[in-house]
Amino acid sequence: MSSAELDASAMRGAHARGERSVRLTIEDTLARIARIEPTLGALSAVLADSARTRADELDAARANGFEPGALFGVPVVLKANLCQTGVETNCGSRVLAGWRPPYTATVVERLLAAGAVPVAVAHMDEFAMGSSGENSAFGRARNPWDLARTPGGSSSGPAAAVAAGLVPLALGSDTGGSVRQPAALCGIAGFKPSYGRLSRHGLVAFGSSLDQVGPLARSVRDVELALEVLSGFDERDSTSLRAAPVARSARTSLAGLRVGVPQEYFGAGLDARVRATIETALGELEALGARRVPVSLPSTALAIPCYYVLATAEAASNLARFDGVRYGPRVDGDGSLEGMQAATRGAGFGAEVKRRILLGTFVLSHGYAEAWYGKALAVRARLRAEFEAAFAAVELIVSPTAPTLAFRLGEKSADPLSMYLSDALTVPASLAGLPALSVPAGFARDGASELAVGLQLVGPFGADAEVLAAGRLFEGATRHHQRRPALAAS
Ligand code: GLN
Repeated sequence: MSSAELDASAMRGAHARGERSVRLTIEDTLARIARIEPTLGALSAVLADSARTRADELDAARANGFEPGALFGVPVVLKANLCQTGVETNCGSRVLAGWRPPYTATVVERLLAAGAVPVAVAHMDEFAMGSSGENSAFGRARNPWDLARTPGGSSSGPAAAVAAGLVPLALGSDTGGSVRQPAALCGIAGFKPSYGRLSRHGLVAFGSSLDQVGPLARSVRDVELALEVLSGFDERDSTSLRAAPVARSARTSLAGLRVGVPQEYFGAGLDARVRATIETALGELEALGARRVPVSLPSTALAIPCYYVLATAEAASNLARFDGVRYGPRVDGDGSLEGMQAATRGAGFGAEVKRRILLGTFVLSHGYAEAWYGKALAVRARLRAEFEAAFAAVELIVSPTAPTLAFRLGEKSADPLSMYLSDALTVPASLAGLPALSVPAGFARDGASELAVGLQLVGPFGADAEVLAAGRLFEGATRHHQRRPALAAS
């Protein structure tokens, strides 16, 4: 059986029992990459040599009686903002071209400790700013369901790689939706944990109060497996939750579960086909025994402006470190220190990153900070309070993940505002720090294309296992996640 048909746990099982060598799986994966990647364009680097070496080491360790870990021999793809010692981690930016970090992100260390094999680094929007993958300085991935369309962003490459069957598991990052939205548009599962659940050590910072690493996989079961491996306190991240790793919930039924449907998420900007697919999914949840409860989150419309003030303010501060002195290539400019920094940043950052640095600097500037940054903080507190009030009456809140179907590459890249609106349904959970999952809800037709629609499940802070269990039970009953794009079969 080809590795493309196996999920991570089945693959791990075959390796652990010795039915299949890790080396065979890795060769199979590299061959698939060679076949599909030229069409897909998801990867910025294939780590063929290190993956083969590691596969042989794992096979040898098993032969010597070493106890196989939870992801033993599972090939994984990593977004280009997760540090790996000695591996180019360019964040999709020319300012970090060729930068090889001297350390490895905690989440990657944990993957390695569980026996996973990193096989490639994947494209992303520059510094994770974007919703289509088109802001990368190095290459833009295509949607495996329709190659003329975006896979979503900013974790465009990781999502496309999983959906096209290159690997069963990838890690992305989600600041305002960058794991959930591409998961939705690619027809796979993607999870943003509660803030602090996964270590940010070694994740290049964008908006530090929002950033979370998130797993992408073809099934929620594999997301649960990944979360179990990746979670748990990390002393190298001051915002890491002091909590044990998240164990899979034992829930086996959705009977009696109160599911809140916020009216504000079904407003004018929602595509009619997305709405219809989500309505069907809500009916499926009810058929599984869940109770549908209307809820209201009145400040939802303020989430986008609030997010684009706070995220840009934090990004402007975080990106100040890329000054031509400490990281990446340098442009000398007029030879003065300031001139060198201006020339390096001018040449190194793309248009969207510059726009955000300017916006973020403005909202923090003397005389304006209270009016903009301070107000946004107040809105964030209000959004959080509204979620808390809603969770007094329901266990979960469900909605579409993205307001539209996958759009065409180039369709929104000249219009930042319409691009920002693709995040309207994902940023609220980010601002509130809540666990949020996108799971395949079904498919809708646009012209000749069948395009994926994602259902978003949001839970109270810390209820990561419950959100995933509900998603797993939904997927087990609906099986939308078993559909594969034609490209994956090639
Ligand atoms: N699309 C959003 C943005 O551009 C979210 C990005 C993200 O989650 N990294 O900021």
